[in-house]
Amino acid sequence: MKKFIAIVLLAALAVVTCSCSVKEHSPTAGFPAVDIDVNRYSISCYFDEVEKLLKGYEHLTYYNNGETILEDVYMHLYPNAFENIHIAPFEPMEQARAYPLGFDTGFLNIDSVYVEGQPGEWEYRDSSRQVLRISLPRPVDPGESTGIEIYFTVKFPRCYGRFGYGEDTVKAANWYPIAAVFDSHGWNLDPYHSIGDPFYSDVADYRVNLVLPKDYTVAATGEVVKVKKYDKTNKEWTIKADKVRDFAWVAGKDFSVASKKTKGITIKSYYFDRETGRKALEYASDAVAIFNECFGKYPYKTYSVVAADFFVGGMEYPNLVLISKELYNNERLFTLEYITVHETAHQWWYGTVGSNQVREAWLDEGLTEYSTILYFEKKYGKGTARGLLEHLIKKRYDNYLASAQGDPDTKISAALDEYRDSEQYHTLVYCGGALIFQNLREMMGDADFFKALQVYYRNYAFENATTEDFIRIVESIGQKNAAEKLRGWLTLGV
Ligand SMILES: [Zn+2]
Repeated sequence: MKKFIAIVLLAALAVVTCSCSVKEHSPTAGFPAVDIDVNRYSISCYFDEVEKLLKGYEHLTYYNNGETILEDVYMHLYPNAFENIHIAPFEPMEQARAYPLGFDTGFLNIDSVYVEGQPGEWEYRDSSRQVLRISLPRPVDPGESTGIEIYFTVKFPRCYGRFGYGEDTVKAANWYPIAAVFDSHGWNLDPYHSIGDPFYSDVADYRVNLVLPKDYTVAATGEVVKVKKYDKTNKEWTIKADKVRDFAWVAGKDFSVASKKTKGITIKSYYFDRETGRKALEYASDAVAIFNECFGKYPYKTYSVVAADFFVGGMEYPNLVLISKELYNNERLFTLEYITVHETAHQWWYGTVGSNQVREAWLDEGLTEYSTILYFEKKYGKGTARGLLEHLIKKRYDNYLASAQGDPDTKISAALDEYRDSEQYHTLVYCGGALIFQNLREMMGDADFFKALQVYYRNYAFENATTEDFIRIVESIGQKNAAEKLRGWLTLGV
């Protein structure tokens, strides 16, 4: 009964908060005008710490930004990939690390749907329940919008992947119904995948009210507007985030927080170990300064690096990255630095400039991996960068291709489901992708290479770019031969 009251109150709050104007803080200032209305999410939720259940209400104003009249809207329900061990998004060898205490279920149930204020017609698209189809009572023309309300329940699993909880943190990543992308291929409805980061989304504005026990500290995408007492045991966090392509939050009871301002951006480190937590802050802050110079300014006001119960290493979300808490160890500082910088580079390639990470993973991962090498070059010198490129990247790529696993038919530009395993994916997409950018730089010269990256960043900020978009930019600055070579490397290897 208490939860029900909470959710009704929260729903009322959501209506109030989504009407506030934040134009003066728009992250798009300084970028070419964005001539579309982006989707708006207003989400209110109540987290039951004992049951690890979250009751949520979401109001989505969905804009049809394509050229096709829409009769349905599709949404991803990623938590349902965690419902049973057979579809959980981990390779067999990863399962013991993802579920050290054994499998624990996670899911997202749709409780009810309303469209434009009326009970909506909806269904789970298939038995895995990872996609929600909502029928629209009237077709939505290009340029028009519709209002969708969803009441939902999320169960967090005890899981050390992106979504779930561990001993120190609750990780709400890919946790709410999020609109699928409708692009020139139609609706993109790819399910969660054990390989890669299987996500693809449009930027949107978010207003989120989150109620959870008062002893938690929350790190989140966007800016915390207000934290206030909700009732005797809970606090309510009000958070806003504009022009971001997802919304994630992580809560912990024992977080310490260090922060620093770099070029007007508040960078925060949430950690459990002071010395290494402050190191993570320094790495992130240096990376932001370097990437600002190399590619263009980070357009958001906040960026948080968050130590988490996460076995994979690091994972990017807008304005926030998860870093495995196991890396906060003086013996592992190089890995902490490398991964923190890699995830920070994703704020440019994934966060600001989006791409289809299912179909063209190389585009953000290859560029992000090469950006990580650039950080080491700018901070520690060319010799250090050359050594890393040679020993961490080229050697791994060459050895893999020469090994029995090396499959010359699998491309650097393949889709996630074309890779045999994470090893093949990582070697081709990260290492092969980074080598492509190194080769491009050598061919184009520094001036044109960085110009291409800056034009790409500026022109596709807050949008989704494709490999072809990037190639066209290389061509447009007079580097036709490099563009031609790039096409060959993507399909034939470097
Ligand atoms: Zn990455």
